[in-house]
Amino acid sequence: MPYKTLPKAELHMHIEGSFEPELMFQIAERNDIQLPYESVEALKEKYDFNNLQEFLDIYYQGCAVLITEQDFYDLAWAYLLKAKEDNVVHTEIFFDPQSHTDRGIAFDTVINGFHRAFEDGQQQLGISYRIIACFLRHLPEQAGFDVYPDIVRHKDKIIGVGLDSSEVGHPPEKYQRLFAQAKKDGFKIVAHAGEEGPAEYVWQALDLLDVDRIDHGNRCLDDAELVNTIVDKDLALTVCPLSNLKLCVVDDLKNHPIKIMLDNGLKATINSDDPAYFGGYINDNFAQLQSAVNLSDDEIKALIRNSFEASFLSDEEKAKHLSALA
Ligand SMILES: [Zn+2]
Repeated sequence: MPYKTLPKAELHMHIEGSFEPELMFQIAERNDIQLPYESVEALKEKYDFNNLQEFLDIYYQGCAVLITEQDFYDLAWAYLLKAKEDNVVHTEIFFDPQSHTDRGIAFDTVINGFHRAFEDGQQQLGISYRIIACFLRHLPEQAGFDVYPDIVRHKDKIIGVGLDSSEVGHPPEKYQRLFAQAKKDGFKIVAHAGEEGPAEYVWQALDLLDVDRIDHGNRCLDDAELVNTIVDKDLALTVCPLSNLKLCVVDDLKNHPIKIMLDNGLKATINSDDPAYFGGYINDNFAQLQSAVNLSDDEIKALIRNSFEASFLSDEEKAKHLSALA
């Protein structure tokens, strides 16, 4: 099957969501932190979520064992090794600064650990990267403004800002002022929208945040005019099939709307979201989706082409990757 060997880009991956339980226990031990689980197996048993919030509660608990720059480095390096196995040649990852700064970890510790790992990944594994800092939308917009100067200070390492965490009840309009500032400062703009939230939130991401890409976006399919607008603007959706299944956005992968998205001309891409929690990295997403909805080779190739076209690589770099796929 072509997805296994084809070079691909990943555009929706929370680095803290790639925290495998084994590494979590290892880092907790060296930092002398007691996890509230007896074993890796006991922790994994908790990975049975009914919705986004149940996942987030476990996810933030996992983040709490990350203390030193080396911890952040090790987390990112473990993801890069998985990405290499799956033939990912370019990755655009999210991190959640507030999950760490709110625990008293310096912003510089976090970004320097991640950045050093991705620089090494580029040198040693040939995986190019971009880093996107996400704001936690369940917190007030002011909390985002409080961390924003650190993001600006590291603009040489951070290409864009995003919006993640609990969607319902926290529409994009809540973050309108902060994203306007980020746009003005030259950051790329992405936002999770239409995962659990309604099509209206996707409209807001377009109209109020002026996004360059939509993360998830599934619910745009409820609104034909919205679909046409997204197609006209040539905005990509970063779709996450196993995440959608695990968080009950779809009841069965057989009912995943990926083909409907492609048939409507939407620039959909395949991504792993929080792979340590949702049962697989990018090739697992392709494999399970393919067997569930019977993706053709052409559809798989289109999804992979989209991943490069929708990336924040330069036009020259995109052309190089796209010609390798031809
Ligand atoms: Zn996500």
